[in-house]
Amino acid sequence: MATYSHSRLNTFENCPLQYKYKYIDRIKPDIDTSIEAFMGSRVHEALEELYKQAKCCKVMTFNQLLTFYRKQWNKNWTDNVKIVKENITKQNYKKMGEKFLEDYYKRFKPFDEMKIIGLETQDRLTLPDGNQYHVRIDKLGCRGSTYFVCDYKTNAGMKEQSSADADRQLAMYSIWVKDKFKDAKKVILRWHMLAFDKEVESIRSDKSLTKLQNEIMDIIRKIETATEFKPKKTALCKWCGYQSLCPLWKHLHKIEQLPFEKFKKDDGVKLVNELTELSAKEKEIKLKIQLIKDKIVMYGKQIGVSVVFGSDAKATIKEYESLKVPAKDTKERIALEKLIHQYNKWLEVSTLDSFSLKKIIKQERWPKDLTDKAKKLLKEELTHQVRIGKFKDGN
Ligand code: SF4
Repeated sequence: MATYSHSRLNTFENCPLQYKYKYIDRIKPDIDTSIEAFMGSRVHEALEELYKQAKCCKVMTFNQLLTFYRKQWNKNWTDNVKIVKENITKQNYKKMGEKFLEDYYKRFKPFDEMKIIGLETQDRLTLPDGNQYHVRIDKLGCRGSTYFVCDYKTNAGMKEQSSADADRQLAMYSIWVKDKFKDAKKVILRWHMLAFDKEVESIRSDKSLTKLQNEIMDIIRKIETATEFKPKKTALCKWCGYQSLCPLWKHLHKIEQLPFEKFKKDDGVKLVNELTELSAKEKEIKLKIQLIKDKIVMYGKQIGVSVVFGSDAKATIKEYESLKVPAKDTKERIALEKLIHQYNKWLEVSTLDSFSLKKIIKQERWPKDLTDKAKKLLKEELTHQVRIGKFKDGN
């Protein structure tokens, strides 16, 4: 049985390949951390220290808190912290963290809103399937039989109520709280949105927690039975520490390190540049061909001929009327299909839609026995597709 955590499950859902690199192959990422995560950790450490002292009836001054934060920042800083956003510097992030702490300090001083039970807890919740779920609560406190599971967020985006009510992380922690503290009549999940100096709260029913626990076990089952860990390209790739290994980014990562002369000579760069040029020409030629065909039709009509001769070849013009079938899902198409069915002629004009079939099988939308039988009748083959597209900002 293994131990899972919110971030572990999130990683699998965001990108199975990143999950494999991190949790199965245990590969050290190229970067230590992102600047956002780095600043978040320092803010967490400062608030932990603040409450540690408050528990001992010692209220830190804001200057002491700031000194602690700055000390932690300098002590942990490495040049391997990745800054993705352009024009935002290390100093900007450092100041941002200071502002978050200042706002929090002003609003919550003297930090006695609740009795503190735990800070940055390290515990495990045993799931019904025997697996363990890592419980790490930034701040756990209570007022009588009301418990607070608090999370500090340094995100630039405000958490909406609907997202708080659907959040899995704190809700899973509340299962642990209810299990561990039998007097807990109410568990409030609270997010301190430090960038906005606001809180968002959510309360879950026992029924919704049971449902959530089952969903978590489903994801774990998916992970444990996965045979393929495919890369999933999202905006989060910019912050991924495995770009130098990932098939989607490895080449870019390699050529970015090359001096300009070597970069131009890289076989991949040369081939893609050639293909880009040819594809543009192909597009242009296709347009020109259509234009000339239209002109030949006009020319033929003007002089009343259906064959126009060149030096070694001829162009034959054919004019015919064709029936246009109405587009899918239109009123006319639905009426036409209904009519054909009425006359029992559908089988004469319908054919297997191979695109839809492949999609249904891939998404396992049919009963398993049907999918398995259909798969046996289909031949597997490896196909490659090369598409040319623009990329900017590492995307
Ligand atoms: S770079 Fe993107 S696709 Fe590749 S492993 Fe990382 S998150 Fe996944």
